[in-house]
Amino acid sequence: MGIDINTVLAMRCPDCGKMEFHEFSRFSIARGHAFHVTCSCGATKLTVSTKNLSCYWLQVPCVVCETKHLREISGKRLWSGEVVTLSCDDTDMELGHIGPASKVKEMTASYEQELEALVNEFGCDSYFNNSKIMYEVLSCLHEIAERGELYCQCGNYKIEVDIFPDRLELQCKNCDSLNIIYAETEEDLKVIQQVDMIELARHGFKCLDSLANTGKSKKARRKRSKT
Ligand SMILES: [Zn+2]
Ligand SMILES: [Zn+2]
Ligand SMILES: [Zn+2]
Repeated sequence: MGIDINTVLAMRCPDCGKMEFHEFSRFSIARGHAFHVTCSCGATKLTVSTKNLSCYWLQVPCVVCETKHLREISGKRLWSGEVVTLSCDDTDMELGHIGPASKVKEMTASYEQELEALVNEFGCDSYFNNSKIMYEVLSCLHEIAERGELYCQCGNYKIEVDIFPDRLELQCKNCDSLNIIYAETEEDLKVIQQVDMIELARHGFKCLDSLANTGKSKKARRKRSKT
């Protein structure tokens, strides 16, 4: 196994809310010069500085506190090849992850595998009211999760997915929030195709259709689930 030179920061921007992966290496950080990781919107997401390359200071802007948290970390730990989780000092909410690209991406991709396992589990088509729509909705969900855009407001990116004949229930085990996505009609599919990200409300409950549509298609929502 070679040395993983490139490290990534996976972090949601405190300013624009976008989830991005930023690559950098230990060689991009020089003694006495603050190194900034910047979001595509221009906001600073992380500032790294070091005087001696054995001890680093990380400055992380926090969405919750609207201030910066300062964390001291040894070079040994930072470049250890293990994932470093940046979190808010006050609320413990996870703000981002630093580590080898493969591991960090694995963390954000773990629900993808869960999804696949679930689909295999329900391998027979007859389980679903409309298996074609269900599979398409699942693959949209895949893509959203792959981009790191499926998460809960409490900071959890490991969203559990329960599959029912007519819908998916996304659940955050951290704070018990629930989000329902219907998957039985073309209309349901359109809804998820229009969505860029799915954010579960902390401790909350919502249906995806109420979040994506401005009322007009909500009318017959529950009528057809009876059959
Ligand atoms: Zn931004
Ligand atoms: Zn904080
Ligand atoms: Zn949560």
